[in-house]
Amino acid sequence: MKYDFLIVGAGFAGSVMAERIATQLNKKVLVVEKRNHIGGNAYDEYDEHGILVHKYGPHIFHTNSKVVFDYLSQFTEWRFYEHKVLANLKGELYPIPINRKTINKLYGFDFKSDEEIKKYLNSVRSNHRQIKNSEDIIVSQVGYDLFEKFFRNYTKKQWNLEPKELSPQVCGRIPVRYNDDCRYFTDKYQFMPKEGYTKMFERMLNHTHIEILLNIDYKRIVNEIKFDKLIYTGPIDYFFDYKFGKLPYRSIRFEFKNYQTKIMEQAAVVNYTDLSKDFTRVTEYKYLSGQDAETTSLSYEYSQIGGDPYYPIPTEANRGRYLLYKKEAKKLYDVIFCGRLAEYQYYNMDQVVANTLNIFKTTF
Ligand code: FAD
Ligand code: UDP
Repeated sequence: MKYDFLIVGAGFAGSVMAERIATQLNKKVLVVEKRNHIGGNAYDEYDEHGILVHKYGPHIFHTNSKVVFDYLSQFTEWRFYEHKVLANLKGELYPIPINRKTINKLYGFDFKSDEEIKKYLNSVRSNHRQIKNSEDIIVSQVGYDLFEKFFRNYTKKQWNLEPKELSPQVCGRIPVRYNDDCRYFTDKYQFMPKEGYTKMFERMLNHTHIEILLNIDYKRIVNEIKFDKLIYTGPIDYFFDYKFGKLPYRSIRFEFKNYQTKIMEQAAVVNYTDLSKDFTRVTEYKYLSGQDAETTSLSYEYSQIGGDPYYPIPTEANRGRYLLYKKEAKKLYDVIFCGRLAEYQYYNMDQVVANTLNIFKTTF
């Protein structure tokens, strides 16, 4: 059998590519996925208690891109959902991102306007001329005390690095609010796929020109299959047999628990921002799906070094090493590298979709 394209990975990058190639170019695609399912890290499934959970941690869809939203809407209906996160600090719960309510509760203030909060933060924030790292970006907005309480320990647990060692893009993902908006995201489109991500991927990949091979590392079959072009969405260092050394990825161990109660937590996600717990955050999945059930399932995230690669680690040294790989990748005209692992970028789902659609548009 000859294919026009071999696609490595059935996550967002691989699936969007496969769908575009099959439907727009009318070409034949083989998708090879080493896991036993499609969907990549966005995969969800019903657990043994009948609760829809995300096997690789909470995935909340949010975007400002109409193009991305319209594109995915071909494959799913949506459930309106605005995500909320609380920080657990010494047993007390505070809204995250830091906002007026967080500051009032933490310090016993009664600030009522955005202006008052702005003035307060101006009085405590540090004046950094240059924002070089994840510490700078937070202390320059909220000062050291709020940084210590909400960012330092959580970041250490998550990355095993000091915020100073990480690019500003990491902690810079979290805004600071002067108002009392407790939503985690403010994007224009905030929805969850109504029947879950996996169903959405099934529809995306359901095409006569798309074949899927699960449970196989592409290196085991790449020499036996005939194809014209390769689309690679796995880790870029693995593709090149680590010739410039390993790129570090942060991994997570997920511990799932089911409780015989309708609801456990006060928000979908609670971040443990002190060191009282080894896990970083806990997620209660019924908040995300809106599922009505007698029991509830939660996941606890323990960050770790070994294991599946989940997060590229944005430091200067890693970026340098990635650029060596990128240079090699550019020399290969018949291979396209795309996605979070292949581009070594801390992308959200919508960014992967936007980027993949863009690569498709500009390449074919
Ligand atoms: P992946 O989903 O990683 O897919 C790559 C696929 O390639 C995998 O299935 C892998 O098994 C396969 N593969 C790798 N190597 C090989 C090989 N050698 N042979 C065959 N197959 C291979 N984004 C959001 O927008 N909102 C969120 O709330 C959010 N939460 C997240 C929470 C966690 C814990 C994590 C880890 C990520 C989260 N993300 C979130 C990011 C989101 O998961 C990614 O942006 C997106 O899934 C990346 O898609 P991808 O196709 O690039 O990569
Ligand atoms: N972060 C933190 N405290 C929080 C929330 C986030 O220190 O309460 C930092 C931490 O370093 C984290 C980063 O900000 O890794 C990005 O947070 P986000 O919630 O976007 O992480 P993700 O959902 O990608 O794991």
